[in-house]
Amino acid sequence: MRRFEEAIRRSKEQLQRVKERIAERKEGKEHAYIIDAHIMILEDRMLIDDTIKTIKEEKVNAEWAFRTVLKRFVEIFNSIDDEYLRERVSDIEHVGERVLRNLTGTLHEGLHYLKENVVVVAHDLSPADTAQMVKEKVLGFATDMGSRTSHTAIIARSLEIPAVVGLEKITYTVEPHDTIIIDGIEGKVIINPFQKTLDRYLAIQKRYALYERELLQLRDLPAVTKDGRVIKLMGNIELVEEVSSVIDHGGEGIGLYRTEFLYLNRKDFPTEEEHFETYRKVVEAMAPKPVTIRTLDIGGDKFVHWGGGGEVNPALGLRAIRFCLKRKDIFKTQLRGILRASAFGKVRIMFPLISGVEELREVKKVLREVQEELKERGIPFDRDVPVGIMVEVPSAAMIADRLAREVDFFSIGTNDLLQYTLAIDRVNEHVAYLYEPFHPSILRLIKGVVDGGHRHGIEVGICGEMAGDPEYVVILLGLGLDQFSMNALSIPAVKRLIREMVYEKAREVAERALECSTASEVRRLLKRERLFVEREFLPLEG
Ligand code: PEP
Ligand code: MG
Repeated sequence: MRRFEEAIRRSKEQLQRVKERIAERKEGKEHAYIIDAHIMILEDRMLIDDTIKTIKEEKVNAEWAFRTVLKRFVEIFNSIDDEYLRERVSDIEHVGERVLRNLTGTLHEGLHYLKENVVVVAHDLSPADTAQMVKEKVLGFATDMGSRTSHTAIIARSLEIPAVVGLEKITYTVEPHDTIIIDGIEGKVIINPFQKTLDRYLAIQKRYALYERELLQLRDLPAVTKDGRVIKLMGNIELVEEVSSVIDHGGEGIGLYRTEFLYLNRKDFPTEEEHFETYRKVVEAMAPKPVTIRTLDIGGDKFVHWGGGGEVNPALGLRAIRFCLKRKDIFKTQLRGILRASAFGKVRIMFPLISGVEELREVKKVLREVQEELKERGIPFDRDVPVGIMVEVPSAAMIADRLAREVDFFSIGTNDLLQYTLAIDRVNEHVAYLYEPFHPSILRLIKGVVDGGHRHGIEVGICGEMAGDPEYVVILLGLGLDQFSMNALSIPAVKRLIREMVYEKAREVAERALECSTASEVRRLLKRERLFVEREFLPLEG
């Protein structure tokens, strides 16, 4: 009971300090009342007395007692027929977590403060949590939630952190100080392995490093098929620091720069100057190679307090370009930064989640306004900056030939195209099994986008996770894509595959794949043609 009272006292003290810190900021005054509300929850007699009573009567520890009472509270709030009150549940949960952390003595330090090397096992990690990870400290992670194309998994790939997500119950199984093998290639987690297994994995780890080194020898060679079709292989990045990895792995430019990470893990918005300086660094480092800067794609699984969050259905909500068109002030600030950076190298602007021609025209109008404004201010920028869109909503894919008249390039975002076409929430582990890039609908949509784009002479690329997965390369190549953009680490393996392929053969196989009724048929076809490539890395001879 004493521990419980002490935890309540400490939680109050911490919140008081948070409140003081917030109040110092100019916009903070309005937010301070939220903290007041949290402090009031900690003073609620029912919450405190019921916990004490549970400890006394049930002879359970304070954590358990508090958790039980908290659960009851949450249930009561959830059953209230008032939306505002129901929303307060998350306040109660936040405060509850703080008390529990104080009880168990686990300080909530961000993952960037880690002092020793760890494997992180968590129920869920937000993309923002993951972006703060440092590879040297986080040796790997495993989560209950998530899927291959959730942004948490994507960032893990960019940071080269081994990870397995969507395990549903891993947090129930692992104890602190367990020895864990995270096999991100096969999607396996092994807890407290036998020495034999451990030895086998240590050997695999070594072989993997050799395999990577071998592939890197292709770095300066072009991705060209045996019969001469040249493909551009580019890198996807989220952070400036990843540019060097793209260069090191032989990327011929940046095909997707996910700029939303500039907005995460902070309370205010990036200024025009910040945008400009950040993009300039990337553009100069890559010059003369192109950098495709995608405008803000907030919402979906990347939410912050001012965007996304709070929607019943965020993936279908005010996400990406929809948010930007609603908040033109935020949008224009970013566009100014991008355009200014275009004077320092080769920039391409790309808009996410475009769903139709009118929406695209509205976006281009905003861009023109910003360009006019910069001209008037006499600020230099590339007047011919190429403008493209991500094709990731089925409606856009269906009218690709119409959209192609209005832009300079397409990039197919298969992560979202699969999410929206197959109706599978990309962060929901329960439907992750339906993620199937070989689904005939997806192959047909991709083909339609390639044909629609080529009919109007524009380049068509692909930048979803599918692009970097060896299993899909032959078919994608055969469907006629001009450019593949992926996490830097995957570039060498994809390059090797392309260099071993005959384009005419890939085209013929892709034609036949388009006639298949199921993904299994596509795989069988590839196997018959001896073109099936396992996802796992190819072991070296011997
Ligand atoms: C996609 O949807 O395929 C894509 C590349 O964009 P993101 O993963 O950032 O949504
Ligand atoms: Mg997308």
